[in-house]
Amino acid sequence: MLRFYNTLTRKKEAFKPIEKGKVRLYSCGLTVYDYAHVGNLRAYVFVDLLRRWLEYRGFETKHVMNFTDVDDKTIRGMRREGISLRQYTQRYIDAFLDDLQRLNITRATLLPRATEHVDEMVRLVEVLLDKGYGYKGEDGSIYYDVSKFKGYGKLSRMKIKELKAGARVKVDEYAKEQASDFALWKAWDPDDGEVFWVTRLGKGRPGWHIECSAMSMMYLGETLDIHTGGVDNMFPHHENEIAQSEAVTGKRFVNYWLHNEHLLIKGERMGKSLRNFYTLQDLIRLGHDQTSVRHFLLSTHYRKQFNFTFEGLEAAKNALQRLYDFVGRLEEVRSSDGEEGVEGLVEKAKGNFEEAMDDDLDISMALAAVFNLVKDVNKLIDEGRLGKTGAEKVKELMMGFDRVLGVLDDFWKRREEKPSEDVEELIRKREEARKAGDWRTADSIRDELRTRGIVLEDTPEGVKWKRER
Ligand SMILES: [Zn+2]
Repeated sequence: MLRFYNTLTRKKEAFKPIEKGKVRLYSCGLTVYDYAHVGNLRAYVFVDLLRRWLEYRGFETKHVMNFTDVDDKTIRGMRREGISLRQYTQRYIDAFLDDLQRLNITRATLLPRATEHVDEMVRLVEVLLDKGYGYKGEDGSIYYDVSKFKGYGKLSRMKIKELKAGARVKVDEYAKEQASDFALWKAWDPDDGEVFWVTRLGKGRPGWHIECSAMSMMYLGETLDIHTGGVDNMFPHHENEIAQSEAVTGKRFVNYWLHNEHLLIKGERMGKSLRNFYTLQDLIRLGHDQTSVRHFLLSTHYRKQFNFTFEGLEAAKNALQRLYDFVGRLEEVRSSDGEEGVEGLVEKAKGNFEEAMDDDLDISMALAAVFNLVKDVNKLIDEGRLGKTGAEKVKELMMGFDRVLGVLDDFWKRREEKPSEDVEELIRKREEARKAGDWRTADSIRDELRTRGIVLEDTPEGVKWKRER
């Protein structure tokens, strides 16, 4: 039974979609005012794991992830550089999409931009005004009156008592300790420069929170199955999304709220404000490969905080190498006999993996099932007790796991790679030297290849090469 920890109820609950076999999934996307760091990317690796697991379990997912391409921060940035909002945000959208691709993150079904959905936002604000949830402030901005919405605070458990009468905030991000009326629509002010829309609400721009209510409901309907985001967005952003959406529709907005924890660095949250972050490109420049970064971000449960360390990244790389070596070994099994116990190992690993993932994506247990299988089957191979048919079965299972983990693509790519001509030539020369008993030459060629990242292995079937990660 598939279960998720629902932040709304603070409980693990059995997952029941609104429509049988289908999942309406919304993820708060990036605010595109800067490059994403790996702390941001953790959220999207988590959503990818969630989505892959839902699909493994046979659900068809419709996944919407927005771009917040107009808010206080994007406007500040574009004004600083003196370029258009579109030019400014496009740079970060492109970089972000490139990061997602490098991390083998499945692209959302739809990637709407806030600036292309202003009409929809205006319509929602009008309904909120009609129903008495919205009011106009003296500055011409329109605010949401949180005291009117009975359920205000139900997600973050913010107490409405703490609300100061008439306390209002116009900025998109505000102090977490205080519930306040927040801006639905911001009347233009000179700091906005050329960023404004002239609408039935006046000249101005939407508040951040209304953007997500508008884009999620437009594409997924009035009630979503799952809404994801970082814990830092629970209040005020998600609380405000609920208040806006439910006041408009009178229906429950989201059935399951899933929040991922922060990535830390030296015990502190990785973030722009603390300047203690790495982008994916930083790590690649330092010589780390993207799949190791994926595996590193993936391998801690999404609701746990953990520290970014280079040792952790190294451990992820080594774990992947074990998987690559293992699949490589499976492909080399030639013997036709010896199927002892492999069926049982396959069943056990599959069962344990699935049970773990069904339990709120318990990735640690799921990976333990994978690596136990690697250990057990390696032992069978060592003892010559695995035949070709058994190896095929194990390989098939590994590929099934990888539909969820998404880390073996590099392995297959490298498999298809042919050595370049000069590498082939060197391998041939080394073979000749070995045959002639010239071990010095043979060893020096081996060393030279190693400096190029090519590792040679002498096997009974001849010399094999692989690229070192
Ligand atoms: Zn959002």
